[in-house]
Amino acid sequence: MHACSTYYHQGSELCADLEPFFKKLSTEIGEIQYETYKIGKELENRHAIVSNSDFVPKEMSGKDGIIMEGYLFKRTSNAFKTWNRRWFYLYKNKLVYRKRSGEEGETIMEDDLRICTVKPVIEGERRFCFEVLSPSKSHMLQADSKELYDAWISALQKGIGAAIQRISTFDSGTDSLNTSSKTDSSQNIGNGAVKNKNKFKKSKMWEQLVKIPGNNVCCDCESPNPKWASINLGITLCIECSGVHRSLGVHYSKVRSLTLDDWEPENVKVMAELGNLIINKVYEANVPDSFVRATANCIGQVREAWIKAKYVDKKFVKTLPEFRSSPTERASRSSLMEVRKWSVRKLRRRPRSCDNSRKKRDKSRNKEPIPEDESDSAIEKGDKSPESSGSDMESRKSVLLFGSDLEKQPMNEALDLSSDQESTGGEDEDILEAEDISKLHPNLLLYKASAAHNLPVMCEAIALGADIHWNNPEDRGRTSLHQGVLSGSVMPCAYLILNNARVNSQDENLKTPLHLATQKGHTAQVCLFLKHRANIAIEDDEGKTALAMAEQKKNADIVTLLRIARFNEEMKECEPGLTGDEMFNDVVRDFSQMACSHPERLQRSKSPEDEA
Ligand code: ZN
Repeated sequence: MHACSTYYHQGSELCADLEPFFKKLSTEIGEIQYETYKIGKELENRHAIVSNSDFVPKEMSGKDGIIMEGYLFKRTSNAFKTWNRRWFYLYKNKLVYRKRSGEEGETIMEDDLRICTVKPVIEGERRFCFEVLSPSKSHMLQADSKELYDAWISALQKGIGAAIQRISTFDSGTDSLNTSSKTDSSQNIGNGAVKNKNKFKKSKMWEQLVKIPGNNVCCDCESPNPKWASINLGITLCIECSGVHRSLGVHYSKVRSLTLDDWEPENVKVMAELGNLIINKVYEANVPDSFVRATANCIGQVREAWIKAKYVDKKFVKTLPEFRSSPTERASRSSLMEVRKWSVRKLRRRPRSCDNSRKKRDKSRNKEPIPEDESDSAIEKGDKSPESSGSDMESRKSVLLFGSDLEKQPMNEALDLSSDQESTGGEDEDILEAEDISKLHPNLLLYKASAAHNLPVMCEAIALGADIHWNNPEDRGRTSLHQGVLSGSVMPCAYLILNNARVNSQDENLKTPLHLATQKGHTAQVCLFLKHRANIAIEDDEGKTALAMAEQKKNADIVTLLRIARFNEEMKECEPGLTGDEMFNDVVRDFSQMACSHPERLQRSKSPEDEA
């Protein structure tokens, strides 16, 4: 018992010694608890702030052009597929993330939103997931709540839209911060300003179109101040004649008001390539003296008879054999020599852009002697006349050259409508490879003129009765529209479409013009074909759609356009009655406007395959 008592006594004394330690420990724990509580509260507050700011997507007004930011879970791309929480933000056409807000060292997830799409992920273990897809990658992301999920998806889609709009609205060359703030202001200004701008443009366009040779008077009756135009023929008309043209039906003539209607930019360019003088050279080549021409004040029947004979019956068009012996054509060859070959001259106008490489090329070409009378023409100086061409003169002499007399016409320098465009086609040769004279036929003439981007000769061929749908059996069954694509310019394509060419015609390799334009990277042409409802689902003989082709070529602009087109189609299939056409049309219009006014922005460095 004694031993027991001693044991407990010692224990009790030992515990008494520990008392101060316990006290100290308990105060410390108390302090720690208080600290923890404080931190907990602070974090809670902070969390509330974070999600609050997440809820409000900072639409374009955010600092430094950030459209939206906040935490998202991101699935790693490695084999473990673990999820990490990262601070994401949409910023200048990019999707970027950091470990924490404000931290240095960002990681760019996608650097070009234009080629991305957002897809909600409904199945799967996690809720509020979505996928950001680009041609080569896919990222799985998860938001904290339904609200954030919706906000992110809409912000991404808006971001993609804004990215497309930004390049279409403003110069991409300037500082990008600058650009984003400009975009803000343009959106704030709204429709009023845009309308004013259009109005201004329209009046300017009208003034320029009547400056084209012959366009200051009606093409058919020479009455002054024409206010109407036939866009597929490329002429200006007085109101009386435009009425007769309308009665012919759109198959023959598509009439528009110069001052009232909205004009597609490519149609303005087609007008700029043609004009009354050029058209009347074709359609009034052989008018018998006995035939009564329409005049400004003639009676309706005369006007009608004249216009019908001119465009429907094509009574005054020179036939091909006549062509061979005509004096103007003979000028470019020796009259004694037998004509064995024929070809088409490429028509190129002087570029308006200050593209340096181009200037250099022009300079080097300028060293060659240029006849004085031509030095003022707007034709590129490289288009030397056959007379001055020296060594290849002999060979050219025996070639009947279509379009050779056209360049002698005065071209209006002030006409910035006719600036050269997105041409990426061959620049070196100004004449296409000659064909044997036995093959001279309107169909092949139209075919070659399309490739040469020579609208006046195309017009001639059409007037001679060329079949616009003709497939060339000697060239993979291609049509003139395919050839127009290869010319690199929108204009031959626009002209052919205006004259009822089929947008979806396929060659022997099942390629449509859309395929070819995609392959060549000609964004403006892709735009044109989409505008005319080209079928994007058509596959070529390798089973490829145009979109697959563009993705493979990593051409962001074309991928964007084709995706929007596909999305538009899908919308229509899912919800018949509801058309997303408006948005689609807007984007396509923006693109084609840019393609016409600032083609250099759509130009990208060419890969060797493009030439193939
Ligand atoms: Zn008239």
